[in-house]
Amino acid sequence: MSENRIKELRELLTRYSYEYHVLDKPTIPDSEYDQLFRELEDLEALHPELDDPSSPTKKVGYTVLDSFAKVTHERPMMSLGDVFSYDELRDWAKKIEDVYPDVQYCVEYKIDGLAMSLIYEDGLFKQAVTRGDGVTGEDVTNNVRTIKSIPLKIPYKQRYDIRGEVYMPKKAFEKANEARRKEGAEEFANPRNAAAGSIRQLDSRIAASRGLDGFWYHIPEDVNADNHYDSLMYAKHLGFKVNDTMRLCDNIEDVINRIEETAKIRHDLPYEIDGMVIKVNDYAKQKVLGFTSRIPKWAIAYKFPAEEVRTVVEDIFITVGRTGKCTPNAKFSPVKVAGTTIGFAILHNEDNIRDKDIRVGDTIIVRKAGDIIPEVVRSIKENRDGSQVPYIFPNTCPVCGGKLYRFEDEAAHYCINTDCKARLVFGIAHFASRKAMNIDGLGEKKVEAFYSEGILESFEDIYKLHNKRDIILNIDKFGQKSYVNLVEAIENSKANSLERLLFGLGIRQVGEKAAKLLASHFKTMDALMDATLEELSDIKDIGPITARGIVDFFKDENNRRIINELKILGLNMDYIDNSIGGDNPFKGKTVVLTGSLSIYTRKEASDILENLGAHCAGSVSKKTDYVIYGENAGSKLAKANELGVKTISEEEFRNML
Ligand code: NAD
Repeated sequence: MSENRIKELRELLTRYSYEYHVLDKPTIPDSEYDQLFRELEDLEALHPELDDPSSPTKKVGYTVLDSFAKVTHERPMMSLGDVFSYDELRDWAKKIEDVYPDVQYCVEYKIDGLAMSLIYEDGLFKQAVTRGDGVTGEDVTNNVRTIKSIPLKIPYKQRYDIRGEVYMPKKAFEKANEARRKEGAEEFANPRNAAAGSIRQLDSRIAASRGLDGFWYHIPEDVNADNHYDSLMYAKHLGFKVNDTMRLCDNIEDVINRIEETAKIRHDLPYEIDGMVIKVNDYAKQKVLGFTSRIPKWAIAYKFPAEEVRTVVEDIFITVGRTGKCTPNAKFSPVKVAGTTIGFAILHNEDNIRDKDIRVGDTIIVRKAGDIIPEVVRSIKENRDGSQVPYIFPNTCPVCGGKLYRFEDEAAHYCINTDCKARLVFGIAHFASRKAMNIDGLGEKKVEAFYSEGILESFEDIYKLHNKRDIILNIDKFGQKSYVNLVEAIENSKANSLERLLFGLGIRQVGEKAAKLLASHFKTMDALMDATLEELSDIKDIGPITARGIVDFFKDENNRRIINELKILGLNMDYIDNSIGGDNPFKGKTVVLTGSLSIYTRKEASDILENLGAHCAGSVSKKTDYVIYGENAGSKLAKANELGVKTISEEEFRNML
């Protein structure tokens, strides 16, 4: 039994390793490979009699192909052992600390790229060699030479071998895949494969166009230093790009803290990391600890929990939003990704489905982008059995059966039937939502219930609900108090400033910010309704598509009728300027709110800031002026500190006000 499984695992892992290391085209997620690898290691430990030196557990990488000249490394290039939990990491550290209680660790990002050795002679860059099978690598000098951050000359005359990772930054990866989509070529699975694919091809112009970069983290000969950290500092002095995020830690708990800290900000980094590497810093100790045939015993990789997992598409279905936009979604067999179970992902539009060629029945790789939104990364065509057919986008609305339209320059399909139930219900719920007319007690479920009773089919109907008391009180779980509150909230909403109404109307392309801009610019609904395309396009931050959307909206007779009726029903149609005049520290500044605020709600804080003339942004960059943080602030606060952006606690913010 075990013997068969060992044989099967060796064959499987050899195949996957070939696809990954040689073809740069993996067909399973890394996490699955790691699991199978672990299973094989455990079985081999139980059955030493079945030992085989050619087992994947004894090998580094994969034997290189003949396309490149082969180069034998003067010193082997190893892989790394890996752990997947802090307990495993503590066990690894304990073995070392039993021998060296005073050990110091160097903790580094594990860059997700392609291992590379750079050779310098007489102070000149001579050769770049891939890791290959650890003993023999491929000569990829011409391609690596195109990486701008790699020094071609260094102030060091003896032979110098420095190792590190060639990687593709996230932005370059997106650009490369966009170019491939346009060419009709298959997209790269991930930045690691993109980097490897760009280096392991023969045209250096292609390599040069891919925006590759490198970090250098290992000097196999202990020159000019007696420990790893100092030798990297020396490498930095020679002109190599050394990652400044590495830290020295005196014990494994500090290492774990550093890992935790990094896990929070890893998605904000401009390049991918798949874990952290922990190395014994002192060279003398490294020498005593030594190597196995595949890995150093003085270093280990801690791998972050899997973010890419395999599953099968069960269905592709369309949802219709308030603007009539039809969004395709994939339903797949539920899988656990980065700690939570997911079963659905948005597929965005017809082009995305076609480009990724996602079909019902396909095996797909899913991930949680930025740890939050489930995303289908790609389908694995190799797993098809012929029963999966290309997805055809429907031409009728799944809710009302009306015809679907795809407008010029837009990727989305729209149901344009203004009587479509989905459009009406979501549209009314949006009109009543907190950021629009702010009618408490009129969420999606209530709107749907009122719609089913035939008393709420338009925005105007909202302002007639006070006449429907008996019908409303007959609806399940709707008490007298809720009714009174609802009627009061509806009445109060009539006094809202113009921008809330504009946002609530659901004009295509007009979000909360554009609505505010339009209201403060035109001051009255009448003035906006008469605005020309030129007048609108002249407003800073209103683009041509938005301007066209606004003009089209107000040209429509039905929309003009609705606005007129709302006016008759008593809704305010003017802009109410709540902004606080005069100079203040937030005027004209870009501010980011993060963490949970306790004195203000998020909305209150951002309203106050916007009234003070600040711009509230969603992410931290060099352009951010202030980050206001509440409790449990995570990656945004860390990034602000990293970039030197001024941070303000909620308490300080209140005092400033
Ligand atoms: P690895 O990627 O787990 O770790 C070793 C490598 O980490 C080193 O060779 C080096 O290139 C890199 N590294 C990055 N930052 C580093 C740093 N700061 N210090 C030192 N090294 C650093 O091991 P590997 O042998 O390159 O590849 C094996 C892994 O590749 C597997 O664990 C799996 O995740 C993946 N793999 C996936 C498939 C698949 O089909 N999906 C197949 C084979 C391998």
